Amino acid sequence: MDTTAASAPSSACAALLDAVQVAQGQGAEIRDPATGEVLGYAPQASTADLDAAVQRARAAQREWAQKSHEQRSEVLNRAADAIDAQASALAELLSREQGKPIANGPNAAFEVGACSAWTRATAAFPIEPEVIVDDDSGKAVMHWAPVGVVGAIGPWNWPMMISIWQIAPALRMGNAIVVKPSEQTPLSVLALAHVMNEVLPEGLLQVLAGDGELGRAFTSHDGIDKITFTGSVETGKAIMRGAADDLKRLTLELGGNDAGIVLEDADPQAIAEGLFWGAFINTGQTCAALKRLYVPDALYDQVCEALVDLAGKMPMGVGREEQNVLGPLQNRAQYDIVARLVEAARDGGGRVLIGGDPDEDQPGFFYPTTLVADLDNDNPLVAEEQFGPALPIIRYSDLDQAIEWANGLEVGLGASVWSSDPEMAREVAQRIEAGTVWINKHGAIDPRVPFGGVKQSGFGLEFGVEGLKHMAVPKVIAG
Ligand code: NDP
Repeated sequence: MDTTAASAPSSACAALLDAVQVAQGQGAEIRDPATGEVLGYAPQASTADLDAAVQRARAAQREWAQKSHEQRSEVLNRAADAIDAQASALAELLSREQGKPIANGPNAAFEVGACSAWTRATAAFPIEPEVIVDDDSGKAVMHWAPVGVVGAIGPWNWPMMISIWQIAPALRMGNAIVVKPSEQTPLSVLALAHVMNEVLPEGLLQVLAGDGELGRAFTSHDGIDKITFTGSVETGKAIMRGAADDLKRLTLELGGNDAGIVLEDADPQAIAEGLFWGAFINTGQTCAALKRLYVPDALYDQVCEALVDLAGKMPMGVGREEQNVLGPLQNRAQYDIVARLVEAARDGGGRVLIGGDPDEDQPGFFYPTTLVADLDNDNPLVAEEQFGPALPIIRYSDLDQAIEWANGLEVGLGASVWSSDPEMAREVAQRIEAGTVWINKHGAIDPRVPFGGVKQSGFGLEFGVEGLKHMAVPKVIAG
């Protein structure tokens, strides 16, 4: 692991940073998680700033809501062009703040590309009034009206892409949106909005950086009509409580602890790469990553060996160095969670196949890619969400038992089944309690396909036409 690269931002990245940051001493210090170097200073919004932003949003929204879908989509497409025009500066800033490598697979350049692609896809979905009844009794038509002002609260793992998942459908449906990014990654989201605001009407998209207190103020603000939130289950519950007083609409995309079940007929070599990236995408810091893998006795050693082989070949290091495909954990708290869970796995008799031995003298929150075998299903590394690069591989002898284990937690975001027989895999998928069950892949998302959790992974859908409807209120005109 090479963590030595320290270099000044490119001029394009520095210009973006300067456009959004405040002077030293005037805001929160943001450090590069790979090097510990200071990246910049994020403004800190007060509740008075929030009041003013909500007022601006309300005024902008009235006019925006009058526009047709075609007009709003045209503006969104231009916002996507603006993102593309600044793509490399945005990707560099994202990498420096979040830690993920710039190039190589689903990393920073991919995330920025996904932002423009998602915006265009969201602009293109057809959403027409739905004729529910049209007969002798009369006519009833369902329309989708704007909610008003949406408050979006987001996490630090995919800060730009998750913000776009909130921003694009909210704007498409005639709302204004005020975003509170994670205090760990505010500059990325401020920069993304800065770029989009080159073309968006003033006041429609605003970003207020601040801490959890500001998030709480969003939740209880009477000028905000809906909260869309991605983050932890605990914060999701706090938001739901805070939103109760004025019955705000909610979309809650919360954490998961996704299971993958390998069936006996799977080909270990053929599935190894999909399993690896399902688990280790973004260094494991992904809500719908594969977080516990169930493998039958017959394939156990082969799957473990194939994964160890791949893990050993994946360079981890500073994101600006081209060869790296994995980066650091984004922050100390998450690093500590991963380290604690791997220790708990060792204490519980787990066999560390690779990794598990971080170099504490290196700068940055690098935790090596770690695979742990021979764990009991109730070990904390299996039962708790690690949200980092440490995958437990659990042996099973009976498929019914594996399905019971997969369903045994209170969360249900994603899951996957791995098999050479898609029909059989689909039958198993039907028995798994999760918002999405992938076959022979894990975590693959598509702007057209609705995404959301069951159980304590939240509710409400994102993406596709269903996602648009969740950024609107249904309104029936009958007669
Ligand atoms: P949190 O849920 O604590 O934070 C997510 C966002 O909510 C942040 O913007 C945070 O602000 C804000 N927030 C915090 N408290 C409140 C509140 N009471 N009311 C409103 N908003 C609030 O997640 P963390 O970033 O702390 O990560 C902790 C765990 O969450 C991880 O270990 C992981 O398990 C899970 N997680 C899941 C993600 C997902 O994609 N589903 C993404 C990230 C984390 P601030 O950052 O300023 O405190």
